[in-house]
Amino acid sequence: TIGMIGMDEAGNLAGSCTTSGLAYKMHGRVGDSPVIGAGLFVDNEVGAATATGLGESIIRICGSFLIVELMRQGRTPQEACEEAVKRLIAKNSKNIKDIQAGFLAMNKEGEIGAFAVHPGFNFAKGTMQSNQMIDSKSHF
Ligand code: ASP
Repeated sequence: TIGMIGMDEAGNLAGSCTTSGLAYKMHGRVGDSPVIGAGLFVDNEVGAATATGLGESIIRICGSFLIVELMRQGRTPQEACEEAVKRLIAKNSKNIKDIQAGFLAMNKEGEIGAFAVHPGFNFAKGTMQSNQMIDSKSHF
């Protein structure tokens, strides 16, 4: 999955999310990416979030919507992503070693956050001045 969050010079947020889905997936399976609130959610008054990883685990917690709502309540994007991962782990504790999921978020101030269940999730941060690849922190 490739999720993107952007902010224009007027401070408007936008997001997109594209995926080929999981390899060997069940015919007709719909992952989290096309489900607004799961793989992507943008509220231009608050912030935006996107997800990658096992879609079923992300849908179960309405991951991207959850992160935006946590930011609405005052959490930073980083705190919100960490809380979503915590929630996802709690809901999937039996098989969490087999589940990877990661979240990326940005708030209205342009602050960003990212967090994953396991290492290996990275993202790119681009501004008018520079581009940077960043390894996300992870729970495990
Ligand atoms: N989130 C996608 C899905 O579950 C998979 C991925 O991240 O590549 O369909």
